[in-house]
Amino acid sequence: MHYRTEGIVLRTREYGEADLIVTFLTDDHGLINAFAKSPRKTKSRFGSSLEPLSHVRLSVWGKENAALPRLTQSDIITSFQKIRESYDCFTQVSELIELILTCVPEKDISFNVFGFLLSALREVSGNCSNPVLFLSLKVKLLKIAGFAPKLGSCARCGNDAHMFYFSEGSVFCSNCSTPSGQAAELSPGTIRLYECLSSWKIDKVCRVRTDEKILKELTSVIGSHVKYYISKEKKARTDHIHV
Ligand SMILES: [Zn+2]
Repeated sequence: MHYRTEGIVLRTREYGEADLIVTFLTDDHGLINAFAKSPRKTKSRFGSSLEPLSHVRLSVWGKENAALPRLTQSDIITSFQKIRESYDCFTQVSELIELILTCVPEKDISFNVFGFLLSALREVSGNCSNPVLFLSLKVKLLKIAGFAPKLGSCARCGNDAHMFYFSEGSVFCSNCSTPSGQAAELSPGTIRLYECLSSWKIDKVCRVRTDEKILKELTSVIGSHVKYYISKEKKARTDHIHV
């Protein structure tokens, strides 16, 4: 099996003295891991193309369905160095990457996450300090992956509701029996902002001016929802391995 494709470097792990295992999100093979021989030995173009977030043209070779095919070539299309150079920006993008690593199954191409991430990185490069943009990207990614929180109406009866229950990822009204566990009360402005961020296009979202308090409230709820979801997924995987 030998193929060429485009990919974005999501993560690298050191292997032995000079080798790396690189996780790419690719255009037509989904999430893949590949073995890179000696990129750490010398300051090579091959090595610098494996910096996290690099958008590259890559070639891999290996047996059919090999868990770890060999990376034979990697050429930078866009380095996205500007994002790596800003600590705040890189930290926020890293949260998106962790979410992708959690919610996208390996080699699954049914999610169109590659196109989403590439346009997100392009947008972020020119807009590093826009908190609405980052929040919107998180909301959109959750929607693509099928894990968007339900904030508009009660999960049981469909009436207006504003108490969000993290264990269910949804709001419930006071007339319905509510789940146990941690909950947060949402203001109508927060629910409206969420609806805009999840349905509007990125360029429109970047021009949104919103109240600080509402932005803070939605950032906090989405952040907790993501953390809750990631820990649940990780636990499910660990349980699966132990079986
Ligand atoms: Zn209800």
